[in-house]
Amino acid sequence: MTDRPLTLMAVHAHPDDEATGTGGVLARYAAEGFRTVLVTCTDGGCGDGPGGAKPGDPGHDPAAVAAARRTELEASCEVLKVSHLEMLGYADSGMMGWPANDAPGSFWSTPVDEAAARLGELMLRYQPDVVVTYDENGFYGHPDHIQANRITMAALSRTEMAPKVYWTTAPRSMMARFGEIMREFGADWEEPDPAEAAAMPEIGLPDEEITTWVDTTAFGGQKFDALLAHASQGENIFFLRMGKERFTELMGVETFVRVHDTTGAAVPENDLFAGLR
Ligand SMILES: [Zn+2]
Repeated sequence: MTDRPLTLMAVHAHPDDEATGTGGVLARYAAEGFRTVLVTCTDGGCGDGPGGAKPGDPGHDPAAVAAARRTELEASCEVLKVSHLEMLGYADSGMMGWPANDAPGSFWSTPVDEAAARLGELMLRYQPDVVVTYDENGFYGHPDHIQANRITMAALSRTEMAPKVYWTTAPRSMMARFGEIMREFGADWEEPDPAEAAAMPEIGLPDEEITTWVDTTAFGGQKFDALLAHASQGENIFFLRMGKERFTELMGVETFVRVHDTTGAAVPENDLFAGLR
């Protein structure tokens, strides 16, 4: 054993994904004295501009959006007590099919090997014990989330780092309630057309396939405040509308599927570091 603190590395696509997907575990493990490293792959330049302007709208300047989101990301890291923030600085690729997918410098158009080499250097520097990223579908099909999965898995295979590797997920039992919760908090939520829904890859996992349920209820306030730091992004407003208490109640458990493990910790487990301490 070394006297190096146990280290969690989360690899995310955009500024704000760290809060929605892993805000609870980042805050919890920081509070336990572990080192937390956030790698954010893109600049988030395809996010909302002032007044909710979308890419291509007048008033949407990707460089200005990226600068604003960087400030928001730093504020979120402060709230979550992230020890190290590393930004790979690729351009946000936008949603699948957007011209931004193939723009020069976009994350999606960057060869996996090239970005994985950069991430691999960070893994060698920080020597994470636990690495967290998205599943192969990027949870919901966003190209930058898919690419984050690909470069993480490639970097892990070339460095042989991290005894435990996880993909974020959501239990289907929760997804089923999601539409209901959206409506309750006044989001514009339309039930997807059944034919369209059938053609989409299913989001999340059946509850029994989830290996890891981490209770982060005690850190719900920090997770909420981290999202609040990203208030320029319209999709976060709906979460903020819930208020801290209801948000913590609904989002207080973060779920993962363990895809690599050398510790032999039994599953289901309730701790990303089970078997390591
Ligand atoms: Zn994202």
